[in-house]
Amino acid sequence: MSSADSLLAGCLSEQREALDRGEINASELVDASLARIAQRSSLAVVVGVRESAARAEAEAADRRIAEGKPLSPLDGIPILLKDNIVQAGEPTTCASRILEGYVSPFDAAVTEKLLGAGAIILGRTNMDEFAMGSSTENSIYGPSHNPWNPARACGGSSGGSAASVAAGFVPLALGSDTGGSIRQPASFCGVVGLKPSYGRVSRWGLVAFASSLDQIGPFARRVSDCALALETIGGHDARDSTSRPEPMPRLRDALTGEIEGLKIGLPREYFVEAGVDPGVLVRVREAIGVLEEAGARFVDITLPHTRYTIATYYLIANAEASSNLARFDGVRYGRRAENVRDLKDLYERSRSEGFGSEVKRRILLGTYVLSAGYYEAYYGKAQRVRTLIRQDFERAYRECDLILTPTTPETAFALGAKSGDPLSMYLSDVYTASANLAGLPGLSLPCGLAEGMPVGLQLLGRPFDEATILRVGDAFERRTKHHLAGPQEGL
Ligand code: GLN
Repeated sequence: MSSADSLLAGCLSEQREALDRGEINASELVDASLARIAQRSSLAVVVGVRESAARAEAEAADRRIAEGKPLSPLDGIPILLKDNIVQAGEPTTCASRILEGYVSPFDAAVTEKLLGAGAIILGRTNMDEFAMGSSTENSIYGPSHNPWNPARACGGSSGGSAASVAAGFVPLALGSDTGGSIRQPASFCGVVGLKPSYGRVSRWGLVAFASSLDQIGPFARRVSDCALALETIGGHDARDSTSRPEPMPRLRDALTGEIEGLKIGLPREYFVEAGVDPGVLVRVREAIGVLEEAGARFVDITLPHTRYTIATYYLIANAEASSNLARFDGVRYGRRAENVRDLKDLYERSRSEGFGSEVKRRILLGTYVLSAGYYEAYYGKAQRVRTLIRQDFERAYRECDLILTPTTPETAFALGAKSGDPLSMYLSDVYTASANLAGLPGLSLPCGLAEGMPVGLQLLGRPFDEATILRVGDAFERRTKHHLAGPQEGL
């Protein structure tokens, strides 16, 4: 293995140190990443690369680093973006036929910030169409394969970004999380994934799925790298009216390894034996033991409206999606049906041909729950239950500083296992979607294996308190070796 190759298996800070010590340069790192992406293209996790642009940017980074003037700790580091985050002059498809041929005229706020920090964007990662799904199977590019076992799903919808980090293509990738789409694939692929508080990261340039739930966040191999990434992409942005003014703290300062006296809540409803795979529960209980030994205190809490989470999430997310996706009409963006009779035919055919079946199902459901006769019975009711779910968390945080749960009820399922049964697919989000409904930050980190596949530990914080969940995640990492495990092949 060349030094570049072995570095790819490492984390962002290892790559940073190697760049700073001159053991490798950004151009070599980018070349090695591109070579590995090409070599493992059968995983179908990267759907577009910007080879020559990335190489030119790496040369510019090398000049800055050689002069001792790197722009930031991300200068010269190769990264990937989920295919729903735009970059000027580059295609964005959301893994949908309807956006075929679309090239963005502008940078997303996060793209702007990452480029400003000197990161090298290698390209785009696979996802469920318009971020709707839990497996990265609903995609025009075909399903992504889990690097731990190619017969298994990567999780979704940001499965391509999670798998890219797990396979050692890049040390950092961005995804989006509307109901679990960062944490669930992070769990399935054995990497760290962070969903920031709602309003922490600008959604400017993220193609909207459900605007009151969507957040962009990072995947990395270490908690500290996620902290660095959020420091870089977070903060107020006037172009997103839901972006919040809270200052962005230096999150890495919170990673002291010290968690003595912190109170961690265990929600009774999330530890129901019947609902969780026993192998997952064993690993999560071991993790609780590690944190207890480190000085954390555990308290039992209750989140009584948990059982309404999935129904509430799917009513609200689909209602918002039906409205957001109305803009894809064949006129303004991407693909347009040909030989049409009139305008109505153009709309109808562009949308019928352009959207996949899961997206259509959600538009229909969303339109139905917003229709005059049913609005109060479904959408209005869901909004009221959303408030109750948020109040559950407010009450719980009077008794604890953060909450610990499994990220998912099971490890990565087989490709195809749930694609014919949307309801069982929706249940994959049973532990993650409540954080989006309540606007909370959530972290998933590896806590061991069950039958050879990674298990994720979820930490949920108070709104805008990413620092505490990152601190606890980092303290766990310092005391365990789970983050060092990787898929056998290629690592
Ligand atoms: N799996 C959930 C859904 O299908 C969440 C998706 C997401 O977070 N983008 O809606």
